[in-house]
Amino acid sequence: MSQQDFAIGIDIGGGSTKIGLVSTGGEIVERRRVVVGDTDDADTIVAQYAETVRDILGAHPAARVLGIGIGFPGRIHPDNLSGDLGNIPALDDFPLAERIGGLFSLPARMENDGTAAGLAEAMFGKDRAARRLLLIAAGTGIGVALTIDGKPFITSGGGLGNAGQLIIHGSDGRPCRQGCVGCLESLASGDALNGIARRYCVEVPDSPLARRASDHGREADASDVIATALAGDAAAKAMLSDVGRWLGRGAATWAQIFAPDVILLGGGLSAAGNLLLAPLEQEARLSGLNLYLAPVRFALASLGNDAGIIGAAAQIFPTTKP
Ligand SMILES: [Zn+2]
Repeated sequence: MSQQDFAIGIDIGGGSTKIGLVSTGGEIVERRRVVVGDTDDADTIVAQYAETVRDILGAHPAARVLGIGIGFPGRIHPDNLSGDLGNIPALDDFPLAERIGGLFSLPARMENDGTAAGLAEAMFGKDRAARRLLLIAAGTGIGVALTIDGKPFITSGGGLGNAGQLIIHGSDGRPCRQGCVGCLESLASGDALNGIARRYCVEVPDSPLARRASDHGREADASDVIATALAGDAAAKAMLSDVGRWLGRGAATWAQIFAPDVILLGGGLSAAGNLLLAPLEQEARLSGLNLYLAPVRFALASLGNDAGIIGAAAQIFPTTKP
């Protein structure tokens, strides 16, 4: 495999799908964004994705493309060609990877998006030297991925099962969007922080958070909490600190099960940086067994939003680690 080899990465996200041409060195050399309609059927979506892939390949006619990798925000079926419980109902149980790969006569594979992001960090992130790397992808929901020696460790559904649904409060807690009650996702995800922000703005309508949201003509959400906290607002910082502490309990539990060398915080909420990471680490160390937590280093994920595209493509690349 030479440095001229590439793969297409398709990262199916909440509002849009990001498609890029990624080198075996982990560099995105071309990228596009596709917005899929809620009512589009699978054939229409395949056609949109294929047109975008053609466009990207047309811009790099000399690139040798090894295959097409898809990051899918849901469970992955054992064939790695399809999945379910994603955010685009038309793609549930649809052989998306097989269809797109077939159109270009290229190998294609589908992986859970959190697992793909973990793979990207393990292969190309600044902590790629870690043998056991655990990524907490805290976005709308909470994804958790483990790589061992650069390979994803899978228990079920293309990832660590549904590790973001760690039950913390139990049946006296809030229900999450996936349907369990009192789980970590109901307390510490972007969805949870949206709810915390909205309840706070009703109580304190003249707060910086409420003013920022009304300036934008919408309800407050997690991005407003992060922006307001980064600008120094104590109430928003306290919200992030609470969320960070919940994530820290999750981190302690996962550390006690998987014994990672490094725990990375990624996903949209990681834009809060140390305002989220510091309480996360502190709570994990206070609550978890020192035997498991002492060897763990906590850090922010280094690839940001690009981890999704890079990791989707990276499943096509052979791992270079032993
Ligand atoms: Zn849940």
